[in-house]
Amino acid sequence: MKHVIILGGGMAGLSAAMRLRRHAGALTLLESSPKFGGRCYSFTPREGWGEIDNGQHVLMGCCASTLAYLADCDTADLLDRRRGLALSFVHADGRRARLGAGSLPHPLGLAQAFLGYGMLTLSGRMRILRVAARLRSLSPPRHEALDAQTVPAWLRALGQDEESIACFWRPVVLATMNSDIDRASAKLFATVLREIFLGAPDGADMLLPRTGLTPLLVDGALAALREARADLRLHAPAEEILHRDGNVIGVRMKDGDVIEGDAVISAMPPWALQRLTAASGLEEAFGIDFDRFIPSEILSIHFRSRRNLGLPLMTGLLETRLHWIFDKGMEEGGTYRYSATISAVPEDLPRDAESLRRVLIEELRLAVPDLREDDITDILPIREKRATFVPLPGMEAYRPAARTSIGGLYLAGDWTATGLPATIESAVRSGFTSAEAVVAR
Ligand SMILES: Cc1cc2nc3c(=O)[nH]c(=O)nc-3n(C[C@H](O)[C@H](O)[C@H](O)COP(=O)(O)OP(=O)(O)OC[C@H]3O[C@@H](n4cnc5c(N)ncnc54)[C@H](O)[C@@H]3O)c2cc1C
Repeated sequence: MKHVIILGGGMAGLSAAMRLRRHAGALTLLESSPKFGGRCYSFTPREGWGEIDNGQHVLMGCCASTLAYLADCDTADLLDRRRGLALSFVHADGRRARLGAGSLPHPLGLAQAFLGYGMLTLSGRMRILRVAARLRSLSPPRHEALDAQTVPAWLRALGQDEESIACFWRPVVLATMNSDIDRASAKLFATVLREIFLGAPDGADMLLPRTGLTPLLVDGALAALREARADLRLHAPAEEILHRDGNVIGVRMKDGDVIEGDAVISAMPPWALQRLTAASGLEEAFGIDFDRFIPSEILSIHFRSRRNLGLPLMTGLLETRLHWIFDKGMEEGGTYRYSATISAVPEDLPRDAESLRRVLIEELRLAVPDLREDDITDILPIREKRATFVPLPGMEAYRPAARTSIGGLYLAGDWTATGLPATIESAVRSGFTSAEAVVAR
């Protein structure tokens, strides 16, 4: 194999590059923005704030491809592993409950954890186990058929009531699929549940980065790629994919430069690839219905407190506008940093910082009843409008495979046909798949 060009330096592009670095004669990674990492990055926002992440990214023990990527980057030891789910929840009506790791061996420990989840009645907890049992016996055709259903329709058919949907299933869907439960595909959700609960014994472990996202996910890869003499370019937007007689021949850059190559992997999000597809005359060859990929927003509200709010590492809020609060620890100077997350941001959420501060304080009081307004010294909202795509029912048929009908041209990215919702694991899995397809060719 001669020269491989990768378009996009997010997790899909970086993982494809890591897999190819010992196989390609030459490797070029083109990233349009000023930084690698794509939707996962750390930055210093303004004076007074140290380095923060654009949003909290949580990995789980079931993210096998991501863990293999991190091991290859030599950064796997920057993750803190919390055995089992280890989550605390507060309901809008003030009730509290824990979903902790059970002491019994897997899978009994998980059953034990669900049975101890005091937010639901005992019969509600038992009903959750019924879903687990059904998942275990789900045949491939039945699993496929779930693609036509939403998550609530599937769960109700499995005997789940409104309380277990609101207080258990909805937060799981929001956290794993960045989607309102009513819009989420039951097939994708069943896949997520199988990966977390029915796969490896440590599949439900929470893996939280001890550093920022860039040191964890990006820096190690860049060091390994530089060592392999890959050509890593920032501020390098690709404008057109060049092809002749059904085979890819290179890429034209925005500044007009042409880079010749024998294989090209597009690791861009759908909204960026759509522009390139039209510019390259590849609409028919790809046949992708880009309008199906509707962006879903995540809002992260970073905030600082003059005192320790005494919160667990991760607190889930139920039937509220805020979904999660993460304790990010003490800063130099003795203040404390936290981050709150709102997934699948609804249209009616106020946009300005002052209103968001009011939402934050109002809902934070559920978890910290003695919170004073002046405890919170500074807030920093970060919106990611295109955090993921909405995993609608029927979506799977529209996600493209790694191979295209153009020889030497491959697609990667969290939105391609990985069988997973848009996550880091999906992006890395797609990067590995596209790299393997290049090598196989
Ligand atoms: C706030 C937030 C929180 C999230 N939380 C989680 C979480 O908890 N767990 C989880 O698993 N996932 C989470 N995700 C999702 C996860 O970040 C994404 O699924 C993943 O990073 C997507 O990677 P990607 O490589 O497919 O795409 P991207 O990261 O979008 O990378 C694509 C890259 O292509 C570049 N590009 C675009 N056009 C061009 C061009 N013409 N030429 C060259 N380069 C181009 C872009 O600049 C970008 O860097 C979260 C996302 C956000 C935003």
